[in-house]
Amino acid sequence: MTEQRYRSHTDSIYDELDVPSVVNAAGTKTRIGGSLIRDEALEAMNAAAATFVELGDLQAAASDRIAEVTGAEAGYVTSGAAAGLCLSAAAAIAGHDVAAMDRLPDTEGLPSEILMPRTHRTGYDHALRTAGATIVDIGTNDHHLGTGSTNVEPWEIEANITDETAAIAYMEKSYTQPPLDVVADIAHDHDIPVIVDAAAELPPRSNFSRFVEQGADLVVFSGGKGIRGPQTTGIVAGKQQYIESIALQHLDMHVAEAAWSPPERLIDLDNFAGVPRQGIGRPMKVGKEELVGLIYALDAFIEEEQSETQREWQNRAETIARSVEEAGLETHVTGGNDVSVAPEVVINVDGSSETTALELVRRLRAENPRVYVGGDRIDEGEVVANPMCLTDEEADYVADRIVDNVVV
Ligand SMILES: *Cc1c(COP(=O)(O)O)cnc(C)c1O
Repeated sequence: MTEQRYRSHTDSIYDELDVPSVVNAAGTKTRIGGSLIRDEALEAMNAAAATFVELGDLQAAASDRIAEVTGAEAGYVTSGAAAGLCLSAAAAIAGHDVAAMDRLPDTEGLPSEILMPRTHRTGYDHALRTAGATIVDIGTNDHHLGTGSTNVEPWEIEANITDETAAIAYMEKSYTQPPLDVVADIAHDHDIPVIVDAAAELPPRSNFSRFVEQGADLVVFSGGKGIRGPQTTGIVAGKQQYIESIALQHLDMHVAEAAWSPPERLIDLDNFAGVPRQGIGRPMKVGKEELVGLIYALDAFIEEEQSETQREWQNRAETIARSVEEAGLETHVTGGNDVSVAPEVVINVDGSSETTALELVRRLRAENPRVYVGGDRIDEGEVVANPMCLTDEEADYVADRIVDNVVV
């Protein structure tokens, strides 16, 4: 995240609307606006707004770009990673069956179970279920007993594959087990696809191709997190047969079949008995502006000097840690951990002040501008400051606000 435009929190458009703006030390969180869109993407969106274009043509161009970047056969731009999960499930269930596409989310008579290791389940599972899938979760929480057991064994996954299975879903984090390539081998032995949720796994850029190389049939990334494209975009990369199914279930299908000729490299109509009507993906539409914005953000993300961005994050994290420590709070800086791609400042509030982590989080959020620090470790008495979405000035501001709100 090299360029940082100047941001004024007292003179923003939100201020004009009488809505408090947010200084974001919590990372790329959708509820506070995700990430800051790149200038390249904004400019491209403005330009895209000036002219009409056929969305299928634009998706085909995006597909070429995504294929190049990921090494997958094809790609598609969705209205977020969660929409990508829903469409991936729809593609796994309906395949090239136009009548099935027309029926979703009604899956009666269709294999529609999606297997998931229990420890991969998240709130985003709802996106898979939205397509009509039923989730079958597998495994135990034994790992947390510290007995040496794992969460789920490959044989447990294999034993749960039946005629009703449509896919295996896999949530990618550095701690998820079993390894993706092992799960993909099992899936492919049974001719079912693996859908990988890698929404927040960028950067590093190497992750674009990593999961495809490990055997993912479909992998989903958020466009509004590390890539810094439009908030409402996501990417699906994967096998042509599934991307084609996604396209047919997502594009606006009020078309005269005889006159409709989508780009063949995106949709080969010979594979289908006809064209379906508006599909399960129609309420998740992607505008031409968002599509173009995503393509330009992707290009800029690819060209960006990664080590430079990492260094900026590291410096910002250390700046916050230093100021907060000087005020008497115990902190440590993580080197990017299991759940975050950036280094983070973990502040032990309960252990080094009279204030609780919960009180601190609440107070900061009640300010104007609101200050958001990560609250995922409140139960351990800690708050977390993430540098990804801050400017240098804001990093200083966040440190000040933290210090001002605790009694040491
Ligand atoms: C953010 C996230 C999503 C959703 O991504 P959107 O682009 O906001 O739809 C899905 N899964 C995981 C693990 C995420 O972190």
